[in-house]
Amino acid sequence: MCEKLGFEVYKRPKYIPDGVKDESEYTYTPPRVIKPRKALVEIYFSQKHNTLTYYNDQFNLSVGDTVFVDGVYEGIPGKVVNLTYTFKIKPSDYKKVVFVADTDVYGELEFAGSHIMSINRYTMPYEKVIGWFKPPVNDEEEIIISAEEYGEKFTLDELNKMKIDPLKAERGHDYYMDNRVVFIEVKDCVGRAIVLGSKPYEVSFKIVGREVSDVMCDCFCAGNCKHVYAVMLQLKETLKLSAENYEDEWDFDYLSIMSKSVFFDHVFSNKTFGRIEIKN
Ligand SMILES: [Zn+2]
Repeated sequence: MCEKLGFEVYKRPKYIPDGVKDESEYTYTPPRVIKPRKALVEIYFSQKHNTLTYYNDQFNLSVGDTVFVDGVYEGIPGKVVNLTYTFKIKPSDYKKVVFVADTDVYGELEFAGSHIMSINRYTMPYEKVIGWFKPPVNDEEEIIISAEEYGEKFTLDELNKMKIDPLKAERGHDYYMDNRVVFIEVKDCVGRAIVLGSKPYEVSFKIVGREVSDVMCDCFCAGNCKHVYAVMLQLKETLKLSAENYEDEWDFDYLSIMSKSVFFDHVFSNKTFGRIEIKN
């Protein structure tokens, strides 16, 4: 007989966030910081191939957390690689950690080619995921110019009818092939997506059935851009895979998809506990 390993069988309840009765009502609220722990923080910025030390007095950080700082690397995501809790410094000598991304993901996900997808609104909501790439914006007013008068509509089945410069379409196809469309959410006929170019770009659109309209990208180039085209190719591919593989789940009003590499990079990197289950 072999000894039991000494832990109780963990019974997993289906995860529904606290206070959520009707999933369709769910809106994301960022977690509150309970007990900040002062620390000197070494942060690695992969985009800059550089590690710098910051002071933190606002958060309770762990190694692997995705954070944003002030100073020259403002707006660039970094990973916590080391924490020191015993130190003597002048805080004014250091720049600070200003935001920690919430990379906790709960719920069931399906594989869909290069991406992973969920039909649960609380699993990877856009408001959470955008914080993995950009710190929350300050109160600077955004100017949104509706494309209503432009009035272009196209369907996912006829992307060749989209009004786009052929060179931009080609670059968009490259972006799609490179899995630069890292995230798409479609909720109540509104789509939003994150595309990694020289910086993260946000694309938004309306989608009713397979008809797309009111497309916007915050790269602010005139007309449709490579980011938009890449998003449409990715969405079309994922919907096709979803229909082929998960036919019984086809009838959904919510979908979010994330590139596998971003998922593993953010969701798994700082986990020291938690549970996954992979089924066919
Ligand atoms: Zn764009």
